[in-house]
Parts: sequence; C-alpha cells; structure tokens
Amino acid sequence: MKQKCKYCDGKGHEIISVERCSECKGTGKSKSVDLMALSEKNLDSFLSEGSSCQRCNGKGEIVSTNKCEYCEGKGTFFYCDKCKTPIFKENVEENLCQNCKSKQSVHFLDDSCTLEEVEVGKLYHGKVNSLPPFGAFIDLNSRIRGLVHTSNIDHPLEENSNVVVLVKEIKQNGNMDLIPKKIETYNKIEVEKTLPLVKSSELEQFIGKHVRVEGEIIQIKQTAGPTIFTVSDEDGLISGAAFVRAGERAYEDILSDMVVSA
Ligand SMILES: [Zn+2]
Ligand SMILES: [Zn+2]
Ligand SMILES: [Zn+2]
Repeated sequence: MKQKCKYCDGKGHEIISVERCSECKGTGKSKSVDLMALSEKNLDSFLSEGSSCQRCNGKGEIVSTNKCEYCEGKGTFFYCDKCKTPIFKENVEENLCQNCKSKQSVHFLDDSCTLEEVEVGKLYHGKVNSLPPFGAFIDLNSRIRGLVHTSNIDHPLEENSNVVVLVKEIKQNGNMDLIPKKIETYNKIEVEKTLPLVKSSELEQFIGKHVRVEGEIIQIKQTAGPTIFTVSDEDGLISGAAFVRAGERAYEDILSDMVVSA
C-alpha cells in the first residue's frame, strides 16, 4: 500500500535549515536593477512591486533541504498490506514485507462454511475433537470434520488443542484426509461462506436455502415474540423475524445494512 511518507510528511525532503537571504536581507527584493535591461512589461511590475531577488527567488530566505532517505525523495512510501510496517525498496512490487511474505496462510473457517469452502492443498486451523485408535478427528468448524490418519501423525496431538492441518484429499463421500503441520507463525485468513445475493422479487425461488439479501432497514418492530425487521431493496420489501427470547430485541446492534437468511 502506497502512502505519504511519514518521515518527511510527504515532502520528499527534510528541511535542514532556513536562513535569511543575505543578498536582499530577507526582503526578497533586489537592490540594484539595470533599468535599461527591463522590458516594458517587467518595468511595469518593477515599478509596482520592485524586482525580486535573484538569489532567493524573491522568498527572502534560503531553505536547505536533504532528500528524504526513506522515500528517496518521492514523498510516498510503501507499507506492508498485512502488518503495515514500512517496506524497503527491493520488494515494493509485492506489497508485503519479507516477514509476511515468508509466512504461510492458514484459513480459519467461520461456522457458516461448508466443505465448499475447503480446498485441497491449503492449510486450515482446526481443533482436535477426539483421538480414536486410528488417528485424530479434527474439526475445522462446528460442521466440518476431517481425519488425520495415525500414519500421518508425527507429533503428539491432544484433545481440544488447536492444530494447523493441510487438506490432503477430499473424498467423494465428503471424508477429508488431513495432515497436521507444525506451524507457529502464519497469516490468519478468516473465511466466511459466500451466500448468493438475492433480490426480494426472487426470494420465493430460494425458500429453504441460505441466501443473502441487502437493503436498507426501514422498520424495526418489537413484538411480544420476535423482532421484525423490514428491509427494502430496489425490488421491494422483505420482512424477517429474529428471535432471542419472547419480547426481547434481537440483533441490538443492527441499524442498517442487515444481512438475513430466509
Ligand atoms: Zn534574497
Ligand atoms: Zn520521505
Ligand atoms: Zn508485513
């Protein structure tokens, strides 16, 4: 990510000193001018404002600067997209610092995820569910479970401990073969299920399925039972009921941009 260099505040240089111009004594105006050398136009401006000092360009001061060594005078600087530390020139193209680049990505599956979000060859975070004699059952979330076969266990696993596993194979029947990996530092990637976005007019076709609707909350009504949210998208209105306890407001933090399942 490219941002303003914070070492030079985006100027590309640091100011070392500001001195009063000795030529014009800080006035910015020239003392001696060859009137004959001035054109008519210059003469007009000379008569109204005086001629500006050649040495300081009329500023009255001489500013000495040093090119910023961090941004090499560009005024912008790259920061690692992941950890936000400054990146030095040699790996600017990648937008990741050395540290983040060398780390592997471990996927953390949200409970909404199903096997569709699991890919062979990727690393996942899991929890040891149980240790049958033939290996270990690992939960990737509350509904996805895979097996590490005894032959693939190279370090002891404990029940309820966190593990990083590599998905070796997903069989036709949904059984997953996992290999535990000893990885301590990694990039955490949170994965949520991507539900199809459906308009209110198409909702009927998706009864019984999980979908995503997007719209503006136009009414929140608390009944003696559930809380009724009315959402408006460009096609119409959708009412959704949410229930915690009778008469209790559900999703207290929801004010707009709600995502509901129907
Ligand atoms: Zn000057
Ligand atoms: Zn700089
Ligand atoms: Zn980084």
